[in-house]
Amino acid sequence: MHSDTARALAQVVKQYAADDIRVTVNQGYLLRFVKPEDLPAIYEALHALGLADPGFDTTADITTCPGTDTCNLAISSSYGITRALEQMMHEEFPDLVFNDDIKIKISGCMNGCGQHSVANIGYHGSSLKNGAYVLPALQVLLGGGFNCKGEGLIADKVIKIPAKRGPDSLRYLLRDFEANAFDGEYYSDYYARQGKNYFYQLLKPLADLKTLIDSDYIDWDHTEQYVTEVGIGECASVLIDLVATTLTEASEKLSWAREALVESRWSDALYHTYNVFITGARAALMSRDIPTNTQHGIVSDFDKTFVGSPDFHQEEGEFKALVFSINKQEPSEDFARRFLAQGEAFLQAVQAYREIQIEQEGLPELQALTQAQDS
Ligand code: SF4
Repeated sequence: MHSDTARALAQVVKQYAADDIRVTVNQGYLLRFVKPEDLPAIYEALHALGLADPGFDTTADITTCPGTDTCNLAISSSYGITRALEQMMHEEFPDLVFNDDIKIKISGCMNGCGQHSVANIGYHGSSLKNGAYVLPALQVLLGGGFNCKGEGLIADKVIKIPAKRGPDSLRYLLRDFEANAFDGEYYSDYYARQGKNYFYQLLKPLADLKTLIDSDYIDWDHTEQYVTEVGIGECASVLIDLVATTLTEASEKLSWAREALVESRWSDALYHTYNVFITGARAALMSRDIPTNTQHGIVSDFDKTFVGSPDFHQEEGEFKALVFSINKQEPSEDFARRFLAQGEAFLQAVQAYREIQIEQEGLPELQALTQAQDS
């Protein structure tokens, strides 16, 4: 979605949906608070933005990860093959725009961010060698999702085919299901009834590398010859410094507290400062590999772990008394200013502590990341 459309959508959500939008696991947007009488108006507004096409969450609405468009771990163009499959279904199987019996999901590599292994029909990006040449490929997975008893199933890897034959593979599968499934039979039950080898045989002609043509060596949405290059992934196999991320979160909360103070919102300033203490303490505990599950646990563990440390408090219970003083005092201006100053000093102390720790002990996970990148 382009940013202009996203901004326009935000206005529609503000006007008709209580300014509340959720992103769903099947890559939809959920507007939860629309008045029934506003439905025609919101439909018109979404239609004007090109966001009211029918078919959400149907067979023709494929869930896909970004693939090679933006993910460096990807080895194939998930968006490209998704567009090709959706177009093919709109043209050749128009009923599927109104049918959600079969779910199709696609990932650009085996990490599965596009959820291919829990789909009725799944594809994940891969590559195939043909002599000295490499071509983009799709691993076809079948039989995942739910069966008629509501049991969840993990799909089987059935066969690997050249990526350009993806639309043919889906054609074969859909026609076969139309022709041979019982009335009302779930796809996962149909797969279980026929068995893996049946589908392997069905798709086998598409895996024949003797019939390759030049365009099979070029991935969907690409014009150049395919090469495999793998880097750091967008949403899998990513190494980050979680302590640094948590400290950034604490700094953000501190800036909210300062803003609230400037606007004389004393309760908000106190609440955000309280979160600075909790988030900062969580970062410090994480740096020592101490689990941080509840806010009370974080405060008690920080109290015990860092007692006597020159950077923090000297006596056990001191930190707890400071943080929970929020429950004991009126949300006055004076208290909000004092509490915020203490929160600022605390966060600075945690940041300084972390810098010294990295200097002295290094950062094993980032070192590992650097080594992985070098290799
Ligand atoms: S790591 Fe995730 S987002 Fe990246 S290609 Fe693999 S499945 Fe897709």
